[in-house]
Amino acid sequence: MVTCNILILGGTADARQLAEQLAGMPGLSTTVSLAGRTARPRQLPGQVRVGGFGGAEGLARYLIEHRIDILVDATHPFAARISTHAVAAAERSGVPLVTLARPQWERVAGDRWLDARDVAHAVSLLGCEPATVFLAIGRQEVAPFTAYAQHRYIVRSVDPVPADGLPSDATVILDRGPFDMEAEKHLFETHGVDIVVSKNSGGPATYGKIAAARTLQLPVVMIARPPHISLGEPAVDVVAAMLRIRHLAGLPMERGE
Ligand code: NAP
Repeated sequence: MVTCNILILGGTADARQLAEQLAGMPGLSTTVSLAGRTARPRQLPGQVRVGGFGGAEGLARYLIEHRIDILVDATHPFAARISTHAVAAAERSGVPLVTLARPQWERVAGDRWLDARDVAHAVSLLGCEPATVFLAIGRQEVAPFTAYAQHRYIVRSVDPVPADGLPSDATVILDRGPFDMEAEKHLFETHGVDIVVSKNSGGPATYGKIAAARTLQLPVVMIARPPHISLGEPAVDVVAAMLRIRHLAGLPMERGE
């Protein structure tokens, strides 16, 4: 049997779920690629490689040298550079690309969102009045908030945040999702959170904080996604991405697909 080699650009729960579903399927060999940002990534099935490829050209070279048959971009919607490289590398190498991009969250009744163009804009939207601000936007994005030192920050991160990138009054909570609404509500009440800052990541795994903010009537500074290019319409979830992968790999569809 000819093996179909799949490379998943990962670093997300969706990428892990895809790898778990593909693991052990006959005729498939799956590799998940991580950027290497997280010190102790969750266990992944199959093969894992870590580190950048050296731009779009490096990724295209990797695809050819490793005889990759399907490239899957399941990176975070804010990881715009690698997604741009994925499109360019797929075009250069001729390897088909499956992009998984969860639809962004939309406002619903009761939400008090302030729209931010980017992280710098989010900082400016916090205002001058001292407040307790919840940040769960990735440790690399915390540093710009040091400029607004009148606020107290509750920073949640998978890995420790470097001290020189932390606001002077910051409490760091080391934890990783998913987080449900009740737990988030409890956390906000315990720490007296006044404002939540969030990236518009989409998907259910981190929506708990948005639902909790709505329940507590807290404002959410919602950071818009960076512009994103893809080849055709992205798959909106793991199920849709699996369908496309199965189709490209020539695997029989499961009942109901
Ligand atoms: P980025 O700005 O789009 O990418 C920067 C560079 O990192 C890329 O040019 C590439 O280096 C390398 N890279 C990124 N993702 C990679 C991957 N999966 N495998 C191998 N190399 C990768 O990315 P980012 O925003 O720093 O995010 C890095 C990783 O964290 C991504 O895998 C993403 O899924 C995950 N993540 C990001 C966020 C977020 O908010 N940005 C949130 C959760 C998870 P080369 O050019 O050398 O190939």
